[in-house]
Amino acid sequence: MTYNKKTVEDIDVKGKKVLVRCDFNVPMKDGVITDTKRIVGALPTIRYLVDNGAAVILCSHMGRPHNVLDAELKLSKKDKKKIDELPEAEREAASAAALEKAKDDITKLSLKPVAEKLTELLGKPVEMAKDVVGPDAKAKAAALKFGDVLLLENVRFHAEEEKNDPEFAKELASMAEIYVNDAFGTAHRAHASTAGVADYLPAVCGYLINKEITIMGGALENPKRPFVAILGGAKVSDKIGVINNLIDKVDMLIIGGGMAYTFFKAFGKDVGTSICEYDKLDLARELVEKARAKGVAFLLPVDNVVGREYREDTPYMRIYSDSIPDGWMGLDIGKTTQELFSKSVIGAGTVVWNGPMGVSEWENFSAGTEAVAEAVANSGAISIVGGGDSVAAVAKLGFSDKMTHVSTGGGASLEFLEGLELPGIACLEDKE
Ligand code: AMP
Repeated sequence: MTYNKKTVEDIDVKGKKVLVRCDFNVPMKDGVITDTKRIVGALPTIRYLVDNGAAVILCSHMGRPHNVLDAELKLSKKDKKKIDELPEAEREAASAAALEKAKDDITKLSLKPVAEKLTELLGKPVEMAKDVVGPDAKAKAAALKFGDVLLLENVRFHAEEEKNDPEFAKELASMAEIYVNDAFGTAHRAHASTAGVADYLPAVCGYLINKEITIMGGALENPKRPFVAILGGAKVSDKIGVINNLIDKVDMLIIGGGMAYTFFKAFGKDVGTSICEYDKLDLARELVEKARAKGVAFLLPVDNVVGREYREDTPYMRIYSDSIPDGWMGLDIGKTTQELFSKSVIGAGTVVWNGPMGVSEWENFSAGTEAVAEAVANSGAISIVGGGDSVAAVAKLGFSDKMTHVSTGGGASLEFLEGLELPGIACLEDKE
């Protein structure tokens, strides 16, 4: 999928109200934002719009709120229906519990802390609306001055958001004259604020999405060769689309992590109690056959770190083999494999890496993923990293700046690598 979309720089924003969909779905603990990466990532687009005389209306989702209507405490039709179906004696308590949960979500999943952080990072006040398309948002959007910034409440306080309800999209659009999508993390979702609004406004992308599509799209369509893909993670079934698409494009495919054991089993090796998808053995053989037919080198681990149980403190050992003894499970690639995979990226033109080489959340089984992170960072290749665990390993080791691109979207970057159309990008205007 190649995209050539208009950006904020291709449209006149001066004196215009601009609705910007950001990804402010930040991790929070006790009301405090624990990682501001996503907010920092949105700053270039916001600054550009402010500096160029637009009135900036930001929106985003946060978490998965209970189904409530607006920031008022009204239950949605769906919740009401569920409660009405209960025996009469239970309705009152169920209704009170649902309202309590809604109230709690409105407090916990409000974007207010994001407005405060943005105020600090931008060095100018960011006003917070009490609702999304309600009277407060509309009044504040109407009064917003050019060069000023307003943040709407969590768009998922409305069930209509995820349904891509056209009326809700229209209401959102009614506050602005231009729509900018800069939320790559939700670009694979056709929701009202990620795609629906584009039916009502001229729509372009922000800097973040533009960077994702330029770098990832460029690597997939016209890669500097040799092109090496490293895929890991738990299951082959989650990555079939990516493997299939990449086999057509890469020179070498490296597989690590839990999904390697399905390939082991498919070729008659012992896997002990390792994670293995026994219903995907034929598929694993087909994928290897496809790679062979296309002349793509296909690398699997040659040694492993195995544990007794799927537990962080399980006894473990390194085995110098790609067969795993009974009563043990593969939880990381071994030292020889680390060296083999690391050597394979030396001299590569492009490296795409998605998914950990083992259970990298656990100290004893993180060495393989960290070795790959280091090798990719030092490869000198155009390096693109996606997926939560790989990105976390890169950040932990301080290699983020050594990568050409660290994708901001887990699911979205996987779908991009699968060659699927992302609705949040497809809806934007093409460059002439
Ligand atoms: P994914 O979301 O598909 O990239 O998978 C990431 C998950 O795969 C992480 O939570 C890892 O703990 C898990 N994983 C990686 N290697 C293994 C393994 N050998 N056994 C079990 N789980 C694994």
